[in-house]
Parts: sequence; structure tokens; C-alpha cells
Amino acid sequence: MSVQVVSAAAAAKVPEVELKDLSPSEAEPQLGLSTAAVSAMAPPAGGGDPEAPAPAAERPPAPGPGSGPAAALSPAAGKVPQASAMKRSDPHHQHQRHRDGGEALVSPDGTVTEAPRTVKKQIQFADQKQEFNKRPTKIGRRSLSRSISQSSTDSYSSAASYTDSSDDETSPRDKQQKNSKGNSDFCVKNIKQAEFGRREIEIAEQEMPALMALRKRAQGEKPLAGAKIVGCTHITAQTAVLMETLGALGAQCRWAACNIYSTLNEVAAALAESGFPVFAWKGESEDDFWWCIDRCVNVEGWQPNMILDDGGDLTHWIYKKYPNMFKKIKGIVEESVTGVHRLYQLSKAGKLCVPAMNVNDSVTKQKFDNLYCCRESILDGLKRTTDMMFGGKQVVVCGYGEVGKGCCAALKAMGSIVYVTEIDPICALQACMDGFRLVKLNEVIRQVDIVITCTGNKNVVTREHLDRMKNSCIVCNMGHSNTEIDVASLRTPELTWERVRSQVDHVIWPDGKRIVLLAEGRLLNLSCSTVPTFVLSITATTQALALIELYNAPEGRYKQDVYLLPKKMDEYVASLHLPTFDAHLTELTDEQAKYLGLNKNGPFKPNYYRY
Ligand code: NAD
Repeated sequence: MSVQVVSAAAAAKVPEVELKDLSPSEAEPQLGLSTAAVSAMAPPAGGGDPEAPAPAAERPPAPGPGSGPAAALSPAAGKVPQASAMKRSDPHHQHQRHRDGGEALVSPDGTVTEAPRTVKKQIQFADQKQEFNKRPTKIGRRSLSRSISQSSTDSYSSAASYTDSSDDETSPRDKQQKNSKGNSDFCVKNIKQAEFGRREIEIAEQEMPALMALRKRAQGEKPLAGAKIVGCTHITAQTAVLMETLGALGAQCRWAACNIYSTLNEVAAALAESGFPVFAWKGESEDDFWWCIDRCVNVEGWQPNMILDDGGDLTHWIYKKYPNMFKKIKGIVEESVTGVHRLYQLSKAGKLCVPAMNVNDSVTKQKFDNLYCCRESILDGLKRTTDMMFGGKQVVVCGYGEVGKGCCAALKAMGSIVYVTEIDPICALQACMDGFRLVKLNEVIRQVDIVITCTGNKNVVTREHLDRMKNSCIVCNMGHSNTEIDVASLRTPELTWERVRSQVDHVIWPDGKRIVLLAEGRLLNLSCSTVPTFVLSITATTQALALIELYNAPEGRYKQDVYLLPKKMDEYVASLHLPTFDAHLTELTDEQAKYLGLNKNGPFKPNYYRY
């Protein structure tokens, strides 16, 4: 069976979509991969109503027969993997994740007009820079020039490190390293850290059940056999699980980091030890950053045919330096808002020369990233930075969208007294119905112990608010980059800044009052805590499926455009994660399927459904 991919524009604004955008023959290529999805989810033979009415603008046409190499991933019994094979494990691993957590607004013509929720800012590329001769070894964030993308320099906290290599000042580029098999096609901080990294990867594997399931299913056939994937993502244990899954599916990979701070050196070493050409270390300089990317693509006797990017830097590098490579590249899979934004721009300008998949806007990723991830990580970020107790504390959460809802739920569960500010009466009413006091910030600013912004807006907390806060008030942001709190207004001569811990500043007023500013107003959870591996598992699975689909798609299925993954595939990603919980999904009866006008195997919701 197969599913349809709607064009980005169509999917983003479903009610206004033109019918031509939903034409299966044109804008909605059949996904061979969906074979896997459908098979995995298919209830025992029978029933269903493939002819059930499905308004084009509301629901992708019912799946039809399909095929494709990804069929190899279909379990013979048509069942999702057994929970016993993927038990949940100790979640106290210490990994960072990439999350941009934003959304792009896509106009009906496919143009991304705004990306207000991205953590990442407009990329400014260093495409003129070709000299790889500098060797700064210890680079502070502020000393970096802005010619690499913001996403490459966004702050990430130091993840667990078993081995403190801070005393080793030698640039990895100046070291001669070999793995135990004598291979030297990599550049990491210290190959000797591989064993520690391997443990981290093994821990992550236990919270990434879908990728592990894909590995099992790929034992017979290799849907990525012949794929040469060049990747540029955060190099964490979770990415390692993804890379090793891609390897198990038959792909060759070369990898660089999309962020100069987020690489886990141990994990990079473990990957290099197991034969992956990885070029990344924590604390790369700008020059290192581009050098690493270049080492991934500029290789004698090896040319990538797939790109997995996070932020668009790799894609841009190939565009600028090796445009001919695109002749062999079958597709780009992009995770971040920023990267997706650039792809839409390229597409609009007619310069996108291969098909691209927008993973960022898939339903499951958005939902898990915003609500569940924040519900889990807000407390972690606050605890690690302040050691505070939450019970009885007064907290104001600005914004009651997905992120705000997650934060409020977590704090309420800990016994905090939670106030909410909102501008939207619908979200405001939701807050009221959920038992929170809806207030204006001014009304509570003097009394609260913690202020958390989650609006995606700017200057939600102003200098005036900051002036009125009580002593020791904690101020932090979970929303859009560092715009929500007017941190710049605190950099005035009368106020003293004291760095009391990593990511914790005391800002002291002349009368001695101090506020506790976390992560300088950047995203608290990304800067000061970890993000649950399970959340990353969703994204990584989506990336793997997108790669398989683009790689196996027959000529002409995808045009030089940006595609969203179909809801069917989102459902498949979710289904692969259900066994972790020993969850038992109810199957529609034939009668029910007919009654609802659904195919028994999904998709189960129209595109506009909000979940
Ligand atoms: P959302 O649009 O669902 O919610 C934001 C809410 O803030 C809206 O309900 C809006 O009405 C409200 N709002 C806007 N301006 C306001 C103001 N001045 N005062 C009070 N309320 C205001 O968005 P979301 O999914 O909740 O995401 C919010 C932000 O968090 C975005 O910037 C997003 O990129 C970011 N985000 C962060 C993470 C993370 O891990 N920290 C994850 C996902 C998203």
C-alpha cells in the first residue's frame, strides 16, 4: 500500500489548498515506504473501506497498492514490535539533543513567511571562507564571529562527560589518530574515549525503540543499500543510534556536527571506533566547523547521494562549493525550522535542484517537541541550575500554548502555585479550565518566585517587569530564542552581573536586590538540561523513514520541491513507539471504518486535525 505526500503548501494550509496541490499524480507522489508503515499497522486482513469518502482538502486520498524497497521493513506478521524487546530503561542519561522547537508559517504558495518559533536565527554563511589554516583550540562563544549559522552556536549545556579532556589543548586537526582497526578517516577529540561513548549509545538505544525496530526489520533486505549519506546534525548518543541504524539499513555515512558546542566527544569517538567517518568535537572554531563539513563531502572516491541536514549549513556548503554533487544526490532531509525555511526559499527561487523532506513540521515531532518535551524538561532545567524546591512556589508562566501547557502541568504536579498570562482568549480559557489563575504579568510580578516565558513573542518580560521583581526571583525562557526576556535592557552600568554557575547569572540592582537569570534568557531546557531521548526518537525515526523514502523513490515521484511527510507516516512513527508502553491499539471494525469514512489502516485524521 502507499500513502500520499502532500505538498508543503497544501499541508500547511489545508482549508485553502488548491485541488491541484492534492492531485495524487502531481503533488502527491506515492510513498513506497508507506508499505512499511501500512504493513506494520495493518490489522488482520479484511474490511476497511478504501473507497470511503475523503474530501481532498481534508484528508489525503485513501492508500492504494504500493511497493518499494522499504517493504523490507514490514514485519511478516504485520505487527508492531513486541514491547519485551524494547523495555524502557533508566532515563538518567545525560545527552543533549537538537531541538529547534519551532514552526514555520507556510503560505499557500509554499513560501515560509515567518518562522517565529525557531531557536535558530537566519543563517549567515561563511561561504567565502576557504582557509582552513587557523587553529583556535579554545573558543569562547562570544569570540566567535557570526559568519556561521546561529544554529551552529546556540548554547547547549555540557552533557555528561566521563572523561575530562579540558586539559588537552591540541586541536583534533593536529592529532594523528587511528581506531583499533587502523582506520584514520575521522577527526574527533580523543578516540580513546570510545568505550565511554559506546555506553552512552547503548543507553540511548533503550529509549529509541522505533529505530531498534527498524534495524530488526532490515535484517533481510537493506533499503538503504548503496546510499551514501552525508549528515550534519548534533552528534549525540541519539544521533549515533540513528547513524548506526542507517548503517544497519545498508547506508554508508559521513558525519559532521551542526553545532560547535553540542558534540559529545565520547560518542564521536565511539562512532569513529566503529568505522564511521565522523568529523566533530565539542568547542570547534568557526574554521573547524566548515573544515569538518568539507571533510565529509570532499572525499576522494566517495560522493554523497543523500543529505541529512539540521540547520542547512551542509546543504548550503554543497550548493556553494560542490554544486555538481547534486547531480548524484537523490534528496535532502532537513530537520530544523531554519533549514526548512531555506529550502522553501530555494524552491521558490527555482534553485532547489533535488527533492527535500521537511521533517520539522511532521505532526508527531511538533507535538512531542513542544508539549511533552517541555513538560519533562522544564523542571530538570530549573533544578540543575538552582536546586530549588517547587512545592508552594509561586510561578507565572507567560503563554499557554503547547510549551506553556507542558510547563504548567509539570509545575502544578510539583505543588507550585501557577499563574498564567495569555493574549489569546481561547488559550486563556483553556488555562482557566485547567485550574490556573489567568493574570496580567503586572499583577503578580512583585510576588512570584519564578517567571517563565513560553510565548514565541518578544519583550514579554521587560525591564520594567525586571525592576519590579522581588529579590531572588528566577527568570527564564522556554520559548523563542532569547527574545522573550529583554535581557539587553539589563546590560546597563547600574546593574552588576555575577556569574554564579554555568548558565546562572545574578543580576544585582544598586539596592542589593538580585534576580537569577538562567541561560541569559535563551531556551532553558536546551541550555541547562537534557531532553528526553524518547522525544528524539520520534524525530530520528522520521528522518530515517524520510531518507529511505527519498532514496528508493522512483524517478519522477518527487520533483524539486519541499515535501511534508504524510500523516500516514506520522502515524507509523507513533505506532513504532507504542510497544514501549505495552499499549494496545484498538482496530476499527469494518462497520466503524465505513461509518467514519476511514481506511482501517489510516490515516485516521484529516490534515487540519490538531490533536
Ligand atoms: P504556541 O503558539 O502554541 O503558544 C504560544 C502562546 O503564547 C500562544 O497561545 C500565544 O497566544 C501566547 N502569547 C503570545 N504573546 C504573548 C504575550 N505577550 N503574553 C502572553 N501570552 C502570549 O507556541 P508553542 O508551541 O507553545 O511554542 C512557544 C515557543 O516555544 C516558541 O517560540 C517555540 O519555538 C518554543 N519551543 C520551545 C521548545 C523547548 O524545548 N524549549 C519546544 C518547542 C517550542
